Amino acid sequence: MRSVALPEIFSAAASLLYPATCVVCSANVARAEYLCGDCQQRAPRIVPPFCAKCSEPFPGAITQTFSCANCEHRVLHFDCAVAAYRSRGLVRRLVHQFKYARQRHLRHPIAAWLRETLHDSRLRGRHFDLIVPVPLHPARQRERGFNQAELLADLLAASINLPTQTVLERTRYTTTQTAYDRAERMENLHGAFRLRKNRDVRGLHVLLIDDVLTTGSTLSECARVLRKAGAVSVHAATAARA
Ligand SMILES: [Zn+2]
Ligand SMILES: [Zn+2]
Repeated sequence: MRSVALPEIFSAAASLLYPATCVVCSANVARAEYLCGDCQQRAPRIVPPFCAKCSEPFPGAITQTFSCANCEHRVLHFDCAVAAYRSRGLVRRLVHQFKYARQRHLRHPIAAWLRETLHDSRLRGRHFDLIVPVPLHPARQRERGFNQAELLADLLAASINLPTQTVLERTRYTTTQTAYDRAERMENLHGAFRLRKNRDVRGLHVLLIDDVLTTGSTLSECARVLRKAGAVSVHAATAARA
């Protein structure tokens, strides 16, 4: 009896806290929805052609393989990084409100975007053992109140019935990444992550999660640490991409 009643109480409480209106424009939406049809239409979906490795969209109608300016002359340690949306307009605004304005409930529409990456041919049908969120430095997490990647990883893991674990930790508090160019970012990140104590990823196929991919340096550095610790493969998925 109790196992049935408790979730009902929680969902009733949640619907009082978050009435069924679009999180962007406040239009009425169905109970389980967070965005109305019009706002969802305005979210800029990443469509081909894009880089197979880092999902960087390529303007124009290129059909043959092209080399991506973001991937050229660098080693990216993940197998591939799949992003569903461009971090522009409404997507960018929602992610910012989620991260910097403590709008924790926005994890739901953003996780729904993240979940769309699983339909991509690079991830579809692939077996994963473990979902791993990109960690924040503890000081930054305290300041923000949560790790956005962890909230998204939890929702994704629950929806596809996979385990998730905070396997990595961030040991260096780096300055805001946007102030650096690509080479500096990579240099800046080297050694910033490590495996937490008593975690074991040997032999595992890992799905690494973050909210946004900017250059791919953070995901690559996390993937490098996971592989070094014995992960067989590391695919990355993000809701959005710069
Ligand atoms: Zn709307
Ligand atoms: Zn690329």
